[in-house]
Amino acid sequence: MYIKVLVELSAFNIDKCFTYHVNDGLKDKIKIGIRVLVPFNNQELEGFVLEIIDEVSDSMEIKDILDVIDSEAILNDELLWLGRKISDETLSTLISSYQVMLPRALKAKNGHKINIKYQTLVEIDHLEELSDKQQQIIDKINEKGKCLYSELKKINSSVDTLLKKGILRKREIEEYRLNIEDIPRYPVYSLNEEQNRVYLAVIKELNHAKTFLLHGITGSGKTEVYMQIMDEVIKNGKTCLLLVPEITLTNQIFKRIASRFQDIAVLHSGLSDGERYDEYRRIKKGEAKIVIGARSSVFAPLENIGVIIIDECHTDSYQQDVMPRYSAIDVAEYRSAYHHCPLILGSATPTLLQYAKSSKGLYQLLELKKRAGNAKIPEITICDMIKEKKTAKTIFSETLTTKIKEKLLLGEQILLLQNRRGYSSSIMCLNCGYTMKCPNCDITLTYHKNKDIMRCHYCGYANKKITVCPKCHSEDIRELGMGTEKIEEDIKRVFPAVRVIRMDLDTTSKKGSHEKIISSFERGEYDILLGTQMISKGLDFPNVTLVGILQADASLFIPSYRSCENTFDLISQVAGRSGRNKRPGEVVIQTFNPDHYAITLASKNDYISFYKEEMKNRLVGKYPPFFYLSQVIIKSRDYDFLSREVNKIKNILESRLSNMIIIGPSTLHPFKVNNVYRFGILLKYKKELDLKKVLKEMINHYKSNNKIKIEVSFNPSDI
Ligand code: ADP
Ligand code: ZN
Ligand code: ZN
Repeated sequence: MYIKVLVELSAFNIDKCFTYHVNDGLKDKIKIGIRVLVPFNNQELEGFVLEIIDEVSDSMEIKDILDVIDSEAILNDELLWLGRKISDETLSTLISSYQVMLPRALKAKNGHKINIKYQTLVEIDHLEELSDKQQQIIDKINEKGKCLYSELKKINSSVDTLLKKGILRKREIEEYRLNIEDIPRYPVYSLNEEQNRVYLAVIKELNHAKTFLLHGITGSGKTEVYMQIMDEVIKNGKTCLLLVPEITLTNQIFKRIASRFQDIAVLHSGLSDGERYDEYRRIKKGEAKIVIGARSSVFAPLENIGVIIIDECHTDSYQQDVMPRYSAIDVAEYRSAYHHCPLILGSATPTLLQYAKSSKGLYQLLELKKRAGNAKIPEITICDMIKEKKTAKTIFSETLTTKIKEKLLLGEQILLLQNRRGYSSSIMCLNCGYTMKCPNCDITLTYHKNKDIMRCHYCGYANKKITVCPKCHSEDIRELGMGTEKIEEDIKRVFPAVRVIRMDLDTTSKKGSHEKIISSFERGEYDILLGTQMISKGLDFPNVTLVGILQADASLFIPSYRSCENTFDLISQVAGRSGRNKRPGEVVIQTFNPDHYAITLASKNDYISFYKEEMKNRLVGKYPPFFYLSQVIIKSRDYDFLSREVNKIKNILESRLSNMIIIGPSTLHPFKVNNVYRFGILLKYKKELDLKKVLKEMINHYKSNNKIKIEVSFNPSDI
């Protein structure tokens, strides 16, 4: 027997299967989709079995596999198919497409062993006449159903005697590491009329691969609708997959869903490798009816999926920006087709592309225009910081200061958002303008006051804060910009008694810290939650009645065709966190551009007008949704070589692709990451049948050259 094995050799740009021989001793254990250990260039590598073949024409050079790793296939038929599809569609290596689907414990890699934990249970084998003390054990087991050996032994030493006599027997079962704390009860609502219409539209299509765009304003009760649809799906004996953008959201939504359903598994980056592995195995064994998780959980090995829901579907985080550059939404569409089940994309601010697809009928549009229950849309005030600046002594406008004081007196809670997109606090010499850059990356270091260090957010490089300018020796070194830490200081100065908690990259680097911050704020232990983008989406704090957005326009002028859309989203999303319960909410937007349409229309909650206005700009600029946009990314450590090759590549693309606007090559930002230089060539096109073919040939052409790496990002979110 021979098999074709896919191994990871990304360092060599190699992405293909190698043939191995299986000796008779291992033959029976071979299945497609399991991992095996194979020899490769004097190394031992793990790889996936993709094909079994009986005969080969020339068996001279073929080596034997060393061992079989799995007893069950870890890539089932659907995942095998998905991997090929992703690799074809995104021009990523096949091995990277399979690896991204699996938890670390199941990837084809060597080195890290993540074990399954076991527990020993004690069960009754048969009954006999027993002493009182022995009978107590039997009663206990009968009462609890199953008992842990270790616990029984602690309370009653006769357990060993009973085991010896064969009255009891031991059984090993897999233990799951993730412990779910007590779940608070959330009410079940009967759907209002709008919600019910959405519900019925989806229920009608439960056996069809249909994509819905659920455009529902914040607080309109989308989550309640999701839950009732899932309820119906589970009643039909099927499973549900729910994606949320970030770990901060997973927990809140998880609690709401867990208070109503059983057999839920969660998958997100906040779990340890062991916990992830355990959750994954539960799903694979069919023990989970609902899977909730972030981007990569779109690959959860659920069978018989009855609905896929992608909440906050406008979010960038559904797009992976390293190989394989897949979009979880595309993958969800493939899986919805495979399982003949609906896909629901939910958001208060769908991307322009998503909304355009719904107007073209590619998605069925469903709408929720009112807040659920009795909550009202918050009242939004735009604060012109040019006027305010003349009087203000802090970064808080008069208006915001007054409102914060009011809310504090009432004992209500406040969210403050620091808009940091395209912006970070750094240190600058005021004499010569010197700023400190990362030696590995072309990027300014960010200053972290609590540790007094400068850190690179791309590669992690850190250095002590400088006190003397290395260029001009001046000591006039100043902090620039306004990080969350600095704002926290300001808050404490202006409102001395206030209890403020900060949520940003710094305070959430430890495992479980997101969760801690959110639940302590939820419990009312703090008055103000100050945070970055992390706090803008989906969170539901009933006691929050004021939201302040500190630099609403910071994201407006970053060089991206989506900067207006991003600003509109951010304001709408964060404003939606205010007044979600009985008390009315307020929002204060501080901006230097009070008349910009992204800001005025967001403050009026007017998505449709924003959509129309922004579509005009996209048409003029030849951007999506009118044109497709893709980026060829070319990387190398050798700058001279790279700058020559990128021009060649552009020329080839120009000669081979006719209906295409080709822009560049230009340097990417940051230009250098971890000592690798990066160029990009931007492609804009309406329809180009040859595109994938030409790009694939290009990638293949450079495959043998280890000095250069080419990747393609289709519809990137960060241009
Ligand atoms: P969204 O996901 O659209 O932001 P949620 O599902 O979080 O909205 O709902 C907002 C609030 O309204 C929640 O506190 C929720 O419990 C409540 N809610 C949802 N549906 C109803 C309903 N039919 N009647 C009353 N309250 C509801
Ligand atoms: Zn200087
Ligand atoms: Zn760096």
